[in-house]
Amino acid sequence: MRLVLLSPPGAGKGTHAAWLTAETGVAHISSGDLLRAEIARGSELGRRLADYINRGELVPDEVMFDLITPAVVAADRDTGGYLLDGFPRTLPQALRSEEIGRQQGLTVDAVVYLTAPEPVLVARLLGRAAEQGRADDDTAVIAHRLAVFAEATAPLIDHYRDRGILIEVDADRPVADIRDDLRDRLAERGLLGRG
Ligand code: ADP
Repeated sequence: MRLVLLSPPGAGKGTHAAWLTAETGVAHISSGDLLRAEIARGSELGRRLADYINRGELVPDEVMFDLITPAVVAADRDTGGYLLDGFPRTLPQALRSEEIGRQQGLTVDAVVYLTAPEPVLVARLLGRAAEQGRADDDTAVIAHRLAVFAEATAPLIDHYRDRGILIEVDADRPVADIRDDLRDRLAERGLLGRG
């Protein structure tokens, strides 16, 4: 299974990625985790990346492709697919990854769009801030990340809907309900066995 999770910050990408990857065996690739790992290495690149992330800005596409492309190629080779969480996040990223996908035979099967009203997203992110202390989970940066989503990422929703591969799921429900719904919707497309 080759899946992209597309959703605003706080919608639950990480939560659903965890059970999806456990059930399907495909590797979970989180663009945010890859970036944070680079920052943790303390490299010069990591220092530049922290600057973008702590402000809630997107990192430049070149850097993102350098980190993500080898991870996706390896995941597909080693696990027979991938679960991409947080990438692509802009139309240029989507178009270029489709091009690479076509060349390498790695085309995505479906894109899961988790939606929730903005106040719900903000409340969840502030809750996570209290638990995990992520530098970009503060009120002003959260507001900016949501604005970046609306401007840069939201156009991908129509793009994938037009391609007929969008699965839109209401994420303002208990996790178990979202999981059951998502499982059914993936099963309808032959991407997952019924649970
Ligand atoms: P969230 O979805 O909660 O914002 P992520 O961990 O997915 O969290 O992303 C954290 C930050 O990493 C983003 O705000 C952005 O700065 C950077 N980032 C993640 N994915 C991408 C991407 N595909 N392109 C550019 N920047 C990205």
